[in-house]
Amino acid sequence: MENFFEEKELKESCYFAKDYIDFINECRTEKEVIAKVKDILFENKFKCIEEMETLNPGDKVFFVNKDKSMYIAVIGEDSILDGLNIVGSHVDSPRIDLRPNPIYENNGLTLFKTHYYGGIKKYQWTAIPLSMHGVIYNEKGEKQIFKLGDNDDEPVFTITDLLPHLAEKQMDKPMKEAVNGEELNILAGKEKIEEILKEKYAIEKENFEFAEIEFVPELKAKFVGFDQTLIGGYGQDDRSCVFTSLKALLNVKIPKRTCVCILADKEEIGSYGNTSMSSNIFDYFINQIIDKKEGNFVGAIQKVYLNSVMLSADVNGAYDPNYPDVFENNNAAYLGKGVNFCKYTGSKGKSGSSEANVEFMIRLKNKLDENNIKYQFTEMGKLDIGGGGTIAFILADKGIDVIDCGLPLLSMHSPYEVIDKNDLYEAFKNYKIFFEEII
Ligand code: MN
Ligand code: MN
Repeated sequence: MENFFEEKELKESCYFAKDYIDFINECRTEKEVIAKVKDILFENKFKCIEEMETLNPGDKVFFVNKDKSMYIAVIGEDSILDGLNIVGSHVDSPRIDLRPNPIYENNGLTLFKTHYYGGIKKYQWTAIPLSMHGVIYNEKGEKQIFKLGDNDDEPVFTITDLLPHLAEKQMDKPMKEAVNGEELNILAGKEKIEEILKEKYAIEKENFEFAEIEFVPELKAKFVGFDQTLIGGYGQDDRSCVFTSLKALLNVKIPKRTCVCILADKEEIGSYGNTSMSSNIFDYFINQIIDKKEGNFVGAIQKVYLNSVMLSADVNGAYDPNYPDVFENNNAAYLGKGVNFCKYTGSKGKSGSSEANVEFMIRLKNKLDENNIKYQFTEMGKLDIGGGGTIAFILADKGIDVIDCGLPLLSMHSPYEVIDKNDLYEAFKNYKIFFEEII
């Protein structure tokens, strides 16, 4: 493959990638991402928007929605009514959650009943180490935060799989039935686990009824391959876009237009709920900016949206040489060929998708070319074999010009997804240009 990237950039992209690997190793759940980002924002002199009485160009503000989603802004010089430059990604990733009554014993082993979150191929989540994350209120009413299994001296958990010797019947099943949801039970130890939970954490089994416990792959993110160009790790859908869009916003000085970075939750289960992109709390944030910068009036927020542009920052399935049949070569996204744009997503006849308008796209393309951004215009896979969506349509419904734009990625929704570090760096540069320019 020809080399798209300059030597100097290759070095910068390497430092950037190492930072990114640390970030995804530390942030394994939606709440952990939001907590970490909040720390980073405080270090960079951002303030909670509710503390600000007025907003002026260069002010840096954010709002955290129930510890699971977040909106961040750098106030621009132009009138807010001229619109916003928005980049929006999601912080949740597919995982294994606990059910309200998880604990049971079977012949000397203790297991947890689970409920998977997001679109997973269930067989991929067996026979790998899992770490336990989340919140549980114990018998004393104390909030117990779990982050157990990621350090070398901590135990991990696992979902067992059937030995091949006894799997003749299982192996004959269609893949989607080979491991079913009721078989995704987590090995939590041997006997008397309930007693250990009680002694160590004051947790009774009833306390799980109102807990939020998530199990995620314990696998560490690392460079993949001899040339160390690829990065493997859990949760890169969509934390690769979270990291790159956040870094881009942190690099913005005093922009012309007000820049907004969205970190949404619940994208993987359809964007429903009060921390998802569908939540009206985003409007609340934008209304506060209007109030505090210029004063509000009926219809102001609609005018802001009408003049706003957005990149829906989400990953796309990259061409996989193991499965060439599902890709249409002309329109596939390829690792290492830069950031990828999708005019529309959805399935069948573009169903469930918003579609970017050509007038917006051409303005965008011109800016990318002026700034030497490497990009590819793609779709995900051949027609009529599947599909997917992002948060794009929710913002498009508000009147914003939106296009999907993220990184190509292999093994999407698996415990170990793979991206290219040069695409990662290109995504960062691309989001930065998008924030700084008038599209
Ligand atoms: Mn995604
Ligand atoms: Mn996804």
